[in-house]
Amino acid sequence: MKRRLFRIYVTAVALTALMAFLSLALLIFFRVDDQREALLSALESASAWTIDAHDDLQTHARRIAEVSPPLRVTFMLDSGLVLADSAGDVLAMDDHFGRPEVEAALRGEIGESLRFSSTQNVYMLYAAKQIAPHVILRLAYPIEMITHALITYGIGIALLFVALQIILRRSMRRMSELLVAQMDDVRVLLEDGGEPKEAVFPELQPALDNIAYRARRLNSDMEEITRTLKLRNNFVANASHELRSPLTSIMGFAEMLDEGLADTPEERELCVKTIRSECERMLGVVEDVLQLSRTERQGPPSIEDVDVAAVAGEVIRALEPQAARKDIDMYIKGAMTVRACEKDVWEILHNLAGNAIRYGRQGGMVCIDLDGSTISVVDDGIGIAEEHLPHLFEQFYRVDQSRDNGGGTGLGLSIVRTLAERNGARVDVASTPGTGSTFSVTFDQPADETGKEAGA
Ligand code: ADP
Repeated sequence: MKRRLFRIYVTAVALTALMAFLSLALLIFFRVDDQREALLSALESASAWTIDAHDDLQTHARRIAEVSPPLRVTFMLDSGLVLADSAGDVLAMDDHFGRPEVEAALRGEIGESLRFSSTQNVYMLYAAKQIAPHVILRLAYPIEMITHALITYGIGIALLFVALQIILRRSMRRMSELLVAQMDDVRVLLEDGGEPKEAVFPELQPALDNIAYRARRLNSDMEEITRTLKLRNNFVANASHELRSPLTSIMGFAEMLDEGLADTPEERELCVKTIRSECERMLGVVEDVLQLSRTERQGPPSIEDVDVAAVAGEVIRALEPQAARKDIDMYIKGAMTVRACEKDVWEILHNLAGNAIRYGRQGGMVCIDLDGSTISVVDDGIGIAEEHLPHLFEQFYRVDQSRDNGGGTGLGLSIVRTLAERNGARVDVASTPGTGSTFSVTFDQPADETGKEAGA
């Protein structure tokens, strides 16, 4: 920007100098042209007068010069030798041969010339003519106006330059102040986001808007990254905690066995049973963690038409042993087809129905209800208090560890939500403590509903 301003400054100065030079040249040209006309007409009259003159040449030269002072009149031979001069001592004068106006006069023309006279210290306009064989008459007229004009213009241009310098420097300083202030705005935008201010130069507005847009995106990306990092840290801490509890228990019982502290066969059996169940718990955590990470890393799901009733039937068959242990009746209500990934639908139903059995009551029921574009897994189990509902889908969130008999990891529902979102579906929960819970998954895609009821 500084370089650009400097270029503008140099161009402005150059243009001003050029304009001044042109106007000076025009002024001189027109003034000199007037003088030239006058001098040529004086030369014509003087030539005619000379032919009838009865004076000696020196007196005659003075007479002619007196007509329009400060005219200078010179008579010379074609060799350049000065015969008479109205302004000086002829004997002290140089030979005038070789002067442009004299040369032209010798060729029979009216010679003219404008040049600086170092003897008179002023610009002189000369005109010469051959008036008789071997005799040349030359008139000279000082053009003082050129010197004056040059001095006046010189001073004028110098003053103009100084004024221009001051004005341009001031405006450059003002411009750089505005730009520095704008840079501050940009810094604030980058740090805090928000709306861009009006640009000091309209050309900068698109760039400023662009910066504001990118700053907003950067800030929201940063928030997302911070949130993800926080989740990751929490995840690592929770996962470590979930693994440490069973490990501590295993260590304790193993030491008891090692040091012979379990005396009776019953005590030893208890130790081994506990170690085994804790190992199973750890395995459950590891499997859930692996499944979650697999789910998060997976690319887009392969979407197809899924017969949900058929998938639900497979899930019920897989969970039969657990359901049988609690004498829970499982059945499917309705039928539907959704556009989704079949494997994900199986995983979602397996997790929800597994929970329904785990938190279901002895001799209760679990229904997989297929209605419109919503799959609901309904149970008549222990239910969940209202304050827990908003947190259920968070990683490692458990309502009360004593309720799951050590079998839960707190990851099942977060896996369900991730899988559902991958398939463009939404998960909801409704529950009443002591009455039961309903977990529902609603798909965006239109579902094929037949309304059939089928038992498992
Ligand atoms: P977990 O592996 O501990 O079951 P989830 O993420 O699947 O973890 O569930 C989180 C919590 O929600 C569980 O600790 C449990 O208390 C509660 N929960 C989930 N499903 C049900 C249900 N059908 N009935 C009652 N509580 C449930």
